[in-house]
Formats: sequence, structure tokens, C-alpha cells
Amino acid sequence: MIPASPKILFATSEAHPLIKTGGLADVSGALPAALHALGADIKILIPGYRQVLDKCRHATPFAQLPNPFVPGTVDLLEARLPDTSVPVLIVAYDAFFNREGGPYQMASGGDWPDNALRFGLLSYVAAWLSSQYNTTAWQPDILHCNDWQTGLAPAYLRFWPGRKPPSIMTIHNLAYQGIFGPDTVDMLHLPPESFKMQGLEYYGNLSFLKAGIFYCDRITTVSPTYAREIQQETLGFGMHGLLQERRAVLSGILNGIDTEAWDPRHDPHLPYRYDAKHLDAKTKNKTALQQALGLQVDARAPLVGIVSRITYQKGSDIALAVMHDLVREGVQFALLGTGDKVVELAFIEMAHAHPGRISVTIGYEEGLSHRIEAGADMFLMPSRYEPCGLNQMYSQRYGTPPITYATGGLLDTIMDATPENLGAGTATGFLFTAMNRHACAQAVRRAIALYREPQAWRRLQIAALRRDFSWRKSAGEYLKLYRSLAA
Ligand code: ADP
Repeated sequence: MIPASPKILFATSEAHPLIKTGGLADVSGALPAALHALGADIKILIPGYRQVLDKCRHATPFAQLPNPFVPGTVDLLEARLPDTSVPVLIVAYDAFFNREGGPYQMASGGDWPDNALRFGLLSYVAAWLSSQYNTTAWQPDILHCNDWQTGLAPAYLRFWPGRKPPSIMTIHNLAYQGIFGPDTVDMLHLPPESFKMQGLEYYGNLSFLKAGIFYCDRITTVSPTYAREIQQETLGFGMHGLLQERRAVLSGILNGIDTEAWDPRHDPHLPYRYDAKHLDAKTKNKTALQQALGLQVDARAPLVGIVSRITYQKGSDIALAVMHDLVREGVQFALLGTGDKVVELAFIEMAHAHPGRISVTIGYEEGLSHRIEAGADMFLMPSRYEPCGLNQMYSQRYGTPPITYATGGLLDTIMDATPENLGAGTATGFLFTAMNRHACAQAVRRAIALYREPQAWRRLQIAALRRDFSWRKSAGEYLKLYRSLAA
């Protein structure tokens, strides 16, 4: 029988606003909330890190189980995700999780030496809740795992007797695979027969992520294009062979964005608010941004915004080269970012060499990131790969057409300003298809040429502003997947 509203256990190692190190937390906070709003019976499962316990002081007991790996009892507590009514189950085991430092790393920087046990326990509890061992009234119909930290759960379920609801493994970042020595197989009570190529063995080690990908029923990633790209050697991080084998059950569902925090009509970070009908106020934001950043106040100079981690993945080296090439053509740049120290320094030097034309802010500043999205004319994001990406969606929502390499989620969320798309009124940005400075600079020049045609540019901005990147839409797709699996 198909349950009308399947019960979903959403296992994750971080969820905003409880604990966040990256995009996984945004998805793990927003997606369950959107599903819950659609009427889904969903519970988040998360480790009881100190930060989580501090924010969930009113948590109540939900269940108890013996720690399978070391003597002791694991308490499962139930709380609500702050500012929502989404239930959260907390794996409270102080010796593993209630400590100073980050979820994966010590304050000093290195990985926690007991990460295999810590996330082995998270995976184990996810499987336990889904299995016949869970005797509580709440029995999940679907187990939804996220990234390597929950990857062992489908493996446990496969080898345990009894109840086995279908499981989904979502890959948010294939670069992190949870690899540990072969001795961990026994330590984590995984059967020896699982330690082979057709199993969770990965070049002589145990890979949590491979376990998840191998033993789950469905694999998803955060954009349809990325789902195809990870089956190829260049972006497959060594997993492309397995992902190819499993392609019949692999698909991509785009992430959404927080459409309340990112709304030019109500954004408290902006000096002037606007919408598709009042784009003149966007120009005022440009002037304010130029003033605030010490750029020449010039309404006609195209202003290119960049907000990004400064890394090779984000193509920061390409952005630097393009600045160098285009600043002489009268283009202005406003960059906000932090990351690779050598490249940060190169950006700072570039700004010094071109005062009034290039502004570089090194750091993480929420407010400024909004003001750049609103005040810039166009947004540059030359990522070499991008599972989904958020900034290109924010920039479209702010009427600031993005310029990006045609990869992953960028390709799936931007309609290139080709003559056909421009004619149809569907164009929202600019894509380039060769990963080098010349192709990137050419795409910026293409954007500037259109920017010089105010009517055409306005159409592009309005088409971008009107796109729906809400979680509601993505949550609907996950719900469809859950229902089809529960069937
Ligand atoms: P990734 O998660 O790979 O860094 P995304 O585009 O998916 O890339 O998301 C990046 C998020 O972090 C966006 O919300 C972006 O605005 C924000 N961000 C990145 N760098 C900065 C910064 N220096 N200051 C403020 N926000 C930043």
C-alpha cells in the first residue's frame, strides 16, 4: 500500500540554524522545512554536537539504544528546528559529540581522530531507526541520507534482517568521501563480505560515501547536469565507474534558495529596495555601492560583482585574469571573498593598481554580499565545477545577470543570452563553454554589449527576476521521489 504521506527520516551531519559549515546545512535546514510545509511527515536526524544541544535545551527523550561500538547508552532526543515546527532527532552521545570545536575538525584544524566512530554511530542510528529494532510509534517509510557522514546507513540496513525501507543517498559534494583504514570495517560491525569492490571497499580502504552509493536504492545529487558530470572521469573523483553502473537510479534535483532572505523587495541590507517594476531603484543601489567601495561613481561604467570563496574550484584565478584584461576597457569590479591567501594577495594588488575601478574586500560579510548582488550590473562566477551553486540564483533574483562557465547547476539554472533565447524573452545570463580567461572575458564583453542596449538588457533582467528558485519547487520533486519509492 502506498502511504499518502510517507514518513521520512532525513539523516544529516549539519542543518542550519543548528550547525553549519557549508551548503549541506542550508539544504538540510530548508528542504525538510519546505517538505514539512507541504504536509510531509519528516524528521531530521543530527548528531548532538555541543552547538546543537545548546540550541535545543527543551529536547525531550525519544528513544534509547546501546552504543554498538563502545560501552554506553545513546539517547535519542526530540526537539524542533528553531523557528519551525520541523521535528529533529538528536543523537546524544556526549563522548562523541559534546565537545569544543567543529563538527568534523578540532579547533586546531585537523580532522577528529575518531570520525569513523562518530559518523559510524550517526549512520548506525539512522539505520536502527529505519529497521525492525526501532519499536517507537514512528517508523520511517524512507531513509534519506546526505553525504558521506550518513553513508553507512544503507549498508547496515542491507545486512540486517527484517524491515528495510528504501533509502536515498544525496551527494552534495563528491569531493568528500569519508575514507578510513580497513580496520574500521570490523570496528564498525560491518560484515567482512561487504569489504570488496562490489561493496564498500575503495582502493583497499573503507569509503562511507561509496557504501551509501553502492547500497542505497536511489542516488540523487543537487543538479541534473552534475548528475551526468560525476559519471565522467574529470568530475567523478574516482567514483565515476560506480556512478555509471548505477545511472539508472541516479538523478539530479536542483537546490532552492531562501527566497525570504534573498528578496530585493524586502532586503534589509539594501539602501534601496526594488522589484521587476521598479528597477530604477537598482541603479540607486549601484551608486551607493560605488560610493561605499570607493569606486568612481559612474552610472554608465558596467559594474561586475563577485562574491565567492577564493579557490581553484571557483575559478578565482580566471576572475583575476579577466579583471586584468577588462579593467582597461572601462569595466569596474567589486569583489568580496576569502580563501587562498596567495590569490587574495593578488586581488589586493590588482585593486591597488586600479583605484576607483577595482574594489576588493577580503572577508565574509553577509550584508555586503547582498549589496553587491543588488548594486552590480552583472555577476561573475567562473566556477570550474559547481554541483548546484547559489550565487547565480541570488543574482538572477536581484536582476543582476550572471556570467558563468557552462557546468553543473550553473547550466541548469541560467538561460544563456543566445539570439534564440533573447528573441523568446527567456534569456537570463551568459554562459561560456571553454574554461579559460579568453572565453570568460569574451562572455563578459558579450554581456556588456547587451548592457549597452537598455531595452534588451531590461528584458533580460526581468526574465531573471521572475524565475522561481524557491525550495517549494524542489521539495515537490523530492516528495514525488519519496512517493514513487514508497510505492
Ligand atoms: P559554495 O557553497 O561552494 O561556497 P555556493 O554558491 O553554493 O558556493 O554558496 C556560497 C554561499 O556563500 C552564498 O550564499 C554566498 O553568498 C556566500 N558567500 C561566499 N563567500 C562569501 C563572503 N566572502 N561573504 C559573504 N558571503 C559569502
